[in-house]
Amino acid sequence: MEKYDVVIIGAGVTGLATAYTLSRYKLKVLVLEKNIDAAFGVTKANSGIVHGGFHYPLTTLKGRLEIEGNQLFSQYHKDLHFPFKRCGIILAAFTEEELLKVKELYERGKKNRVPGIELCSRERILKLEEKLSGNVLGGLYAPEGGVLEPYKYAFALAEISQKNGVKILYEKEVTSGTWKDSSWEISTAEGNIYKSRYVVNAAGLYADKISALFGGEEFSIHPRKGEEYLLDRLSPARPSKVIFPVPTTHSTGGLVIPTCDGTTMVGPTAEVLEDKEEKTTTEINRNNIFALAKNMVPSVSEKDLITAFSGSRPAMEGEDFYIAPSKKVPAFIQAAGIQSPGLTASPAIGKYIGVLLEKEGLTLEEDPSFIPSLPYQKPLWEMTKEEADAMHKKDPAWTNIICRCEKISEGEIVDAIRKGHTTLDGIKLYTRSGMGRCQGGFCSGRILEILARETGKNYASFTKRGDNSFLTAGDLTGEK
Ligand SMILES: Cc1cc2nc3c(=O)[nH]c(=O)nc-3n(C[C@H](O)[C@H](O)[C@H](O)COP(=O)(O)OP(=O)(O)OC[C@H]3O[C@@H](n4cnc5c(N)ncnc54)[C@H](O)[C@@H]3O)c2cc1C
Repeated sequence: MEKYDVVIIGAGVTGLATAYTLSRYKLKVLVLEKNIDAAFGVTKANSGIVHGGFHYPLTTLKGRLEIEGNQLFSQYHKDLHFPFKRCGIILAAFTEEELLKVKELYERGKKNRVPGIELCSRERILKLEEKLSGNVLGGLYAPEGGVLEPYKYAFALAEISQKNGVKILYEKEVTSGTWKDSSWEISTAEGNIYKSRYVVNAAGLYADKISALFGGEEFSIHPRKGEEYLLDRLSPARPSKVIFPVPTTHSTGGLVIPTCDGTTMVGPTAEVLEDKEEKTTTEINRNNIFALAKNMVPSVSEKDLITAFSGSRPAMEGEDFYIAPSKKVPAFIQAAGIQSPGLTASPAIGKYIGVLLEKEGLTLEEDPSFIPSLPYQKPLWEMTKEEADAMHKKDPAWTNIICRCEKISEGEIVDAIRKGHTTLDGIKLYTRSGMGRCQGGFCSGRILEILARETGKNYASFTKRGDNSFLTAGDLTGEK
C-alpha cells in the first residue's frame, strides 16, 4: 500500500492549485481524479473570467479569496505561461436603478481595495469601451480584472506540480475512506488502496458525496447550470474588456467576454438543477442571453454563433465557499461549494488549504530543489513569420497545419500527446484544435491518425473524453 502525506481528491483548479502549493515542500502528495484528464469537471466549462473583486464583501471567504487570487495571477502567469490577459472589467448600467446598484458595488470595491476601481460617467465608459450601446448611462471599471484559458491554467498547474514530485493518477474514482491507525485508507473503484495522513476533498460537484464517504459533514451540492455561447473570431462584437450587466433581481448572465484566444463568448445563464451531469443548452436560454447581451453590445449576433456548451456551478447552502477542516473526522479538509469565483480565487484557495493543513499539524518544510516555473512554448498562431521559419528548421511538424480554423500544427498536437493528453477533448483543450468555426470537422480525423502513430494504439481505442465515448465503431485500419 503506497503511503502519502496528503491525498487530494479531484484534479480541477481547486485540487491542482492545492497540489502546486504543496509541491514547494518536502511532502509526498497524490492527486486522485476519476476522469481521464485534468480539468474535465467544472473547470472545463466556465466563463474564464478573472473577476475584479467587487461582487462579494470581505465578510465572505469567497470575497477575500477572490481579491487575493486575482492578484496572485500575475506571478502564476509569469511562472506557468497559460493564456491570461488583464483586459479589465466593465459593469454597464442602463437604468437609474442599475446606476444605484453600480454605486453600491463601487463602494464595496473601494472597501475591498480593488486596485484602480473607477466609477464612470457615460462619456468615460463609452471611451473605455467603444462596443457598448449608446444607451449606457454609466458604470464601473475594474482594470485588474481579466480573462484566462481555464484548462491551460489547470494543465500548467498539473505539469509544474508533477515536475515537483506530485503524483497525479487519472481514472481513479475514490469510493471510500477509512480512518485507521492515525491515517486514511482511500479506496478507488478498481480496488487500489492508498494510505495518507491527510485528505483534501476538492471533488467539485461531488464534494458532498466524498464528504459522506469519509464520514464527514452532511451537505448537498446543488448544480447551477450556466450556458455559454461562443462567437466566431470574426464577430464584430468582440469588446476590448469583459462587459458585465448590472446584477438585478430580474436577470442573471448576459456577459460579453473577449476570450484570451480572440473569440467572443456570451453567457452564462444560471439555472438550478437536480442532475449534476446535465449539460444541455436550450433555445429559450439562448434567446434570453442574446437579448441581454445585445442590450449592452448591439453588434452581438446569433449569426456569429459557432458553438454552445454548459457547465454547472457546485453551489451549496449559504452560497459561500466551504473550505475548512472537518469537525467530524480528523485530518480531512473540505474544499466544497467552489462555485464562481472559484477559478479567480483558486491560487488563493490552494495557499489557504496549505495554511489549514499546517494548522492541522502537517509540517511544511521548503524543498530546496523546488522548480518554480515551466518553459514557455509560443503557439504557432502567435509566432511571427521569422519565428515560424526558425521553428520549421528545428522540426517541420511545427508548420504542418492540422487544425485550419485555429492554425494548430502537428508539432503542437504531438506535444499535447507526449504530455499525456490522449483523448480528442484533452488534445483540443491543450492545443485549441477543433475549437474554431468548423468545430473539429476537418481536423478530428487527422488528429486520430497522429494519436495512432504516436501511441501505437488501435483507432478503436480512442475516445472523445474517456469512459465509453469511443470515436469509431470498429477499426479504420482494417485490423481486428
Ligand atoms: C458556467 C460557469 C461559469 C463560470 N465562470 C467563472 C468565471 O468566469 N470565473 C470564475 O472565477 N469562476 C467561474 N466559474 C466557477 C469555476 O469554474 C469553479 O469554481 C471551478 O472550476 C471549480 O473547480 P474545482 O476544482 O473545485 O471543481 P472541478 O473542476 O469540478 O474539479 C473537481 C474534480 O473532482 C473529480 N472528482 C469528483 N468525484 C471524484 C471521485 N469520487 N474520485 C476522484 N475524483 C473525483 C471530478 O472529476 C473533477 O475533475 C464558473 C462556473 C460555471 C459552471
